[in-house]
Amino acid sequence: MNPSRRPLIAGNWKMFNGGRAGVELAEACVAFARDLPSVDVVVAPPYTALAAVADTIDGSPVALAAQNIHPKDNGAYTGEVSGPMLEECGCTWVIVGHSERRQYFAESDAFVAEKASAALANDLLPIICVGETLQQREAGETLRVVKQQVDAFLDVIAQTPKAVAIAYEPIWAIGTGKTAGPTEAEEVHAAIRSWLEKKSPELANRTRILYGGSVKAENAAALLSCPNVDGALVGGASLDAGSFGAIANAARAARGK
Ligand code: PEP
Repeated sequence: MNPSRRPLIAGNWKMFNGGRAGVELAEACVAFARDLPSVDVVVAPPYTALAAVADTIDGSPVALAAQNIHPKDNGAYTGEVSGPMLEECGCTWVIVGHSERRQYFAESDAFVAEKASAALANDLLPIICVGETLQQREAGETLRVVKQQVDAFLDVIAQTPKAVAIAYEPIWAIGTGKTAGPTEAEEVHAAIRSWLEKKSPELANRTRILYGGSVKAENAAALLSCPNVDGALVGGASLDAGSFGAIANAARAARGK
């Protein structure tokens, strides 16, 4: 196991648990994370719970992520939240380019790259999401589509020594109960690693590539045992600390791969 690619398990709470329930969930995550020192555990609550969850996880091994960031530091952008604000709130990570934002908020590859750049400028590590639709997969376009998404932010992540994460999330597997099998996931993860390697071997070595899409306690071990799968971005199953903890535990068990 490459030490710069420690397993990373991130929970995307989406638009759930934005208040008291978020604090309780965070408390339960702290409890299991203390027993898993070899795994990096990250939680991404809604904006409204960030400050309270930051207090809850303070001094624990759990790190805080936001689910989105605006590229500008401040300005007349009603409803948006900037990198300096997230940093002040206690975030160390931020999810960018999630397919739900690309799909419902028309975020382009270029805008996602701007967000990744703003995150890095504000001491936040981006988890940059990529992935194809079912139609694109069935048309045999998966690698072309994912490469185009990666190419858009490749220079941004190559220009920093920081260890960002890329999450490969096939859109057809998000929240659907359908998962890419380990062979399908590994094929795309290995391709992403090879594109990073071509840019710089050091970049390929320090970048964690997470799998996301209906990851559950039952399928986590097989996915996390793939050589180029360095962790998981978990949606639905991260709302239950028992399931999320079991996924983190599967990552611990797979770390000797
Ligand atoms: C996600 O939201 O990033 C995700 C992968 O969701 P789910 O695990 O519910 O498919």
